[in-house]
Amino acid sequence: MMQEKNSKQKKLLPFLKDKSTIERELFKNRLNEKKLLSSIESALSQKKGSPFVIPKRGQPVIALMSGGIDTTVVIGMLIEFFGLRVYPLIIDRQLPHSRKIKAVCKDLSDYFKNKYPTHFHQPFTISQKMPHQKFSLLYRFENTILFDQQREGIPLQPALYAYLAVQYGKYLRATQNVYPQTIFGGWLPENSEWYRYESLSSLRSTMLQIATMEHDFSWQFTSLAIEKELGLYLSKAQLVAIGHTLGIPLEKTWTCYKGKRHQCGTCPPCWTRQQAFKLAGVVDETIYKEGFNLKNKFNDGREFLRDVKRNFIKK
Ligand SMILES: [Zn+2]
Repeated sequence: MMQEKNSKQKKLLPFLKDKSTIERELFKNRLNEKKLLSSIESALSQKKGSPFVIPKRGQPVIALMSGGIDTTVVIGMLIEFFGLRVYPLIIDRQLPHSRKIKAVCKDLSDYFKNKYPTHFHQPFTISQKMPHQKFSLLYRFENTILFDQQREGIPLQPALYAYLAVQYGKYLRATQNVYPQTIFGGWLPENSEWYRYESLSSLRSTMLQIATMEHDFSWQFTSLAIEKELGLYLSKAQLVAIGHTLGIPLEKTWTCYKGKRHQCGTCPPCWTRQQAFKLAGVVDETIYKEGFNLKNKFNDGREFLRDVKRNFIKK
């Protein structure tokens, strides 16, 4: 058993970084504001010795599940590397491609349930429009550029996920006598180049808020991909590489904004996805298929070029 544990964890070693490397990368992004982050972290450390403590093997945790590559690989990592029992939470924002995501999550759940019958629990789905449907006009600003490459986004989105996850934890305690108090998302360091609220400082401030409001510092909220206390600060390509190592059927995950039968392969998320496979040196077995609508094709192209300009030419 011990040997098995070691050989599994060895697979993670090539992806771990030392603290100074992570901090150097972290503070290249000014949104992580060094002083602010260190005060939030020292408040958390005072209570439990460290800003984040990984629960012991066999403990229950909540993991947000979206059907995308990031949250899927995070779920695999939590089980394989940390031996945690995962209670997935799917938050259905009722987007145009929600039906597709539902089917994808079902497929991935079947895979995980079959592979980890004791550690992967039945996902729980909550339908929740974000922003609230009365404010649905705000949705059109999701990709509005504010400054640099920052997008307006859905106000406070990670915190909204965290609040629902806390409620789910309490619901599990009431109904199943398990009490997961650590919540994982799959946000990557590169995400906060787009959305300011996906920075580590933002996630840490949400953790402090939950713990303070609950008056219980057992509550934790983080993204495994940027959890520096574990030596993790992963790019999307690294996440693809880890997923591949773990044998996760990555081609089943869904990235595309469109809810077509196959992913389009040309919208910005599809493009980022393809790049990640390429950089990871992993064969991308995803089926991409563009629609036959010429007008859409033209618009996709323009959108794509705008995105490339925004994200790569500036760097
Ligand atoms: Zn697409």
